[in-house]
Amino acid sequence: MTFDKLGLSQPVLQALDLKGYNTPTPIQAQAIPPVLEGRDLLGIAQTGTGKTAAFMLPSIDRLREAGRQTPFKSCRMLVLAPTRELAGQIAQSAKDYGALAGLKVQSIVGGTSVNKDRNKLHRGTDILVATPGRLLDLIDQKAFGLGSVEILVLDEADQMLDLGFIHALRKISQLVPDDRQTLFFSATMPKQIKELVGKYCREPVHVSVTPESTTAERIDQYLFMVQQDEKQTLLEMILRGRHPVPGKIERVLVFTRTKHGADRVVKKLAQAGVPANAIHGNKSQPQRERALSEFRSAKTPVLVATDVAARGIDIPGVSHVVNYELPNVPEQYVHRIGRTARAGADGIAIAFCAEDERAYLKDIRKTTDAEFDRLPLPDNFRAVVEGVGPTKPAPRPPHQRVAVKPRGEGRPASGEQRKSNAKHSHRTGRPRIGEGRGGEGDSARPRRRRRRSGRGGRG
Ligand code: AMP
Repeated sequence: MTFDKLGLSQPVLQALDLKGYNTPTPIQAQAIPPVLEGRDLLGIAQTGTGKTAAFMLPSIDRLREAGRQTPFKSCRMLVLAPTRELAGQIAQSAKDYGALAGLKVQSIVGGTSVNKDRNKLHRGTDILVATPGRLLDLIDQKAFGLGSVEILVLDEADQMLDLGFIHALRKISQLVPDDRQTLFFSATMPKQIKELVGKYCREPVHVSVTPESTTAERIDQYLFMVQQDEKQTLLEMILRGRHPVPGKIERVLVFTRTKHGADRVVKKLAQAGVPANAIHGNKSQPQRERALSEFRSAKTPVLVATDVAARGIDIPGVSHVVNYELPNVPEQYVHRIGRTARAGADGIAIAFCAEDERAYLKDIRKTTDAEFDRLPLPDNFRAVVEGVGPTKPAPRPPHQRVAVKPRGEGRPASGEQRKSNAKHSHRTGRPRIGEGRGGEGDSARPRRRRRRSGRGGRG
């Protein structure tokens, strides 16, 4: 299958050529033809599947074909995304793919100057990528309207719901013209999303590239049973190459449930001489951008993130995802580990499970069909934790001090060795003891599940 068989125009095909994309991903092959026909679409797809191009490429062609003028203080295509990072990436893709189509692309996100956004949208734009909160701010100020929208895209709709954008989405649905085309993407399909699909879409074509809530196939998943107060030591040992976890460690994305948790891990890693950055909702936009760029360039190849902040980050080469704390919403596990094994690469996901997280583990297994290979703790682990062992191992040459280097430090990379580390497939769990919502909350305590009523943050 090649892109030119899908009915895309020459300018778009040329832009793809420039990007070096030769073969459509499965979601692109399935979604592009019906979107070109003007059908509504419901796409069930995880990040990393190429879904941005799946909706952007045919939309660019539809906009070109319709040939309308850029509307004053409005847009022709509106893409809603949950986070600033995702919005930025989508806008960049739109610019790349639409480079030769002569379409104007803008993005607006929370955390930046609203006046600047007002000014830049005054003359309107063809494509607008926005987080829902900032868009509504501008609409409330009468600085922008949605009356000219021909194509509406909701990307990562389940995440927008998790972030408390339900009211914003309902409001936006009343402001867009009825005769628009709607492209709706979500990685998971809980009940509330189905309701939203009913509100937004008309007889959508269903396209699904991964069965609902299953974990990505190319990711090897490993599990450590470890006490909560031992997790930091274990993480440090892994990052410093003192525990031979499978795979060559290149860039490690570490997930915590809370913002404070992320900061704490980073601080302690720094004390242990392992440079890391945190990314979460309390970080300013410049801080987030710096953390991401240092991660991308492998200058600081350890990034500690909360679920919300990490959603939408597209970084090639994440070799390992560490679930330092298990997510209390099982679907988040799918999103987290989807950050590794992108664009055809294999990935490794490592979960740390403490005694009081067994219920989460059970939920994850049940909901996502995740298969874990259990890894043993290092031989000297207790001694290190209790400070009676070699907590301060013999100094290494400076260039070896941080184990997380682009070329790793003698870790087993072969499948053989991986498996020898992971003999005991492990299935434990006990009745559910409580759940809460994931995301940017600040309490590490398990809470009752309130997935949809959480933080009403505006992006
Ligand atoms: P997405 O799921 O849209 O975030 O895309 C995941 C990554 O795959 C991005 O880095 C894209 O640039 C890349 N990508 C998308 N489509 C293709 C393709 N057909 N061939 C190669 N890479 C692609």
